[in-house]
Amino acid sequence: MSDKQAFDRALAEIHSSLRYLAEHGCRGFDCSASSMAKLEEWGQAPQYLGETLADIRTDLGDCQRCPLARERNHIVFGDGNPRAKLIFVGEGPGFEEDQQGKPFVGAAGQLLTRIIEAIQLTRSQVYICNVIKCRPPGNRNPAPDEINACFPFLERQIATIRPDFICALGSFAAQTLLKTATPISRLRGRFHEYLGTKVLPTYHPAYLLRNPDKKRDVWEDMKMLMKEYRYED
Ligand code: URA
Repeated sequence: MSDKQAFDRALAEIHSSLRYLAEHGCRGFDCSASSMAKLEEWGQAPQYLGETLADIRTDLGDCQRCPLARERNHIVFGDGNPRAKLIFVGEGPGFEEDQQGKPFVGAAGQLLTRIIEAIQLTRSQVYICNVIKCRPPGNRNPAPDEINACFPFLERQIATIRPDFICALGSFAAQTLLKTATPISRLRGRFHEYLGTKVLPTYHPAYLLRNPDKKRDVWEDMKMLMKEYRYED
């Protein structure tokens, strides 16, 4: 890289980082703990600043980074608005998603579509993806090495889209994003934070299909999300 390219890149990074801080409510040059924490975050991802979702998909390629590659039919990268204000993050592709290469297109996906419409949005306005991009055989829980191989790509998708909100669907997504072992029943119902983005955990639509009495809780969560979402408009 020439000196000129390095200088331009440094300028672009500073510009992007200052814009990020401004968008997240920072004003002036305070040295509060939260601002210092955000500064720390910059240092961790400068090589990815300015990349697009297409760049990330290209980097993922015909991914062979974990054993799930052997049995998958399609990588399920994510779908929706690349500038979405709201991202839904699920666990990983099921049978239908693996067949079609798109997230949440099976029975749970149809319920998710209805949930999104109930908050006066459409699937094309939001972005939908998963922690894991390949279907674990028999829909078993993803193993730690599979999560470690895949999660950095989700981190980059979120960093690229820069949503205001993430709705974490189910315990696996919520616990992975929030780096906690707290059960979803105790995480849901309030906002948490992932690198400065508000995270609202709620029950997974597949769980709702088996436990329809929990739909009331999800509706309460969605009302809370909708209120904040509109407020930020
Ligand atoms: N369940 C998930 O967690 N993700 C999908 O894409 C489909 C079902």
